Amino acid sequence: MSVTRKKSPSEPVLVYDTLPKQVVPIAIDPRSYPENRRTNLLVPIYGRATGSALRIPLVVARGKHDGPVVGITAAVHGNELNGIKIIHRFLEWINLEELRGSLLCAPVVNVPGFDMGTRFFTDGVDLNNTFPGLEDGTPSEQYARSFCSTFLPKIEYLIDIHTASAGRLNSLYVRVDLDHEVSKTLALLLDPEIILHSPTSSGTLRSVALNQGVPAVTLEAGNPSVIQGSMVYAGEIGLRNILAHLNMLDCDVQHSRKPLVCESSKWLRTTGGGILDTDIKLLEHVEENQIVAKTFDSFGNLLQEYTAPYGGVVIGRAAYPVSIPGTRYCHLGKLATERDI
Ligand SMILES: [Zn+2]
Repeated sequence: MSVTRKKSPSEPVLVYDTLPKQVVPIAIDPRSYPENRRTNLLVPIYGRATGSALRIPLVVARGKHDGPVVGITAAVHGNELNGIKIIHRFLEWINLEELRGSLLCAPVVNVPGFDMGTRFFTDGVDLNNTFPGLEDGTPSEQYARSFCSTFLPKIEYLIDIHTASAGRLNSLYVRVDLDHEVSKTLALLLDPEIILHSPTSSGTLRSVALNQGVPAVTLEAGNPSVIQGSMVYAGEIGLRNILAHLNMLDCDVQHSRKPLVCESSKWLRTTGGGILDTDIKLLEHVEENQIVAKTFDSFGNLLQEYTAPYGGVVIGRAAYPVSIPGTRYCHLGKLATERDI
């Protein structure tokens, strides 16, 4: 059965008409919002220096019928934009008359970083190292804590959408703990080019969700600071697949590829300065000791050749060719040979 597109825009609802002196996060429960309706919310999440509240945009899309609550987040890093468009397009496409369950979407998690066009929070810290945050912690920790308290309590699955960071390019890949069966299923349904086994590291939104019993994956969809149509389309298809699998929609799961599975990965870094020539493509298979990058001095003389320490697949690579020692030039995945998924 096919599902038809339906637009259901609505005026944003200000949660709290009048604000308390201090923002107190409230857990958004999609089941408390009207059935068969999309509700756009502007939720106070953090204080501003003016003394007013910073509001975060959230969308509740509640279907006509009961079912699970799926959380979708984007722009935890403020310059990672593809996920925002994936959420917009998916919400435009979905038909709430046919939906069993609800979506809770945060198109822009890191509002200050998004305003500034930067990965980081106002204090220069990576939010995705600070979850679940602290009530009386640093600025980023307090924001992270407030977001978790607002967004996580009522969701049953989490898809956190990212891209590469500035100066780098990503394939379409999923970070997931492959030993977590439900999360592994979500990863496969996203139909990525690569699945990277990534036991959770503390501080990430994904790790907090998993610790709270919410299956979670991180979808890495392409490049920062741009919106890429191919990535948006792939992301939409992946989300449709997840909802179809969860029996929230009557549509077929579509797989367009068999993903490469990596057991681990490493960002290879330069050990000297220079102008970088990265002669590898995303998804390219490289051999151990294959030259994958070179650096040149300001006169064009070859300085160094960098070789792959092991055979693997290129998950991401540098796009910005200026290298100081320690610059990341190749995100090299080690293919899983033992794992059967
Ligand atoms: Zn990110």
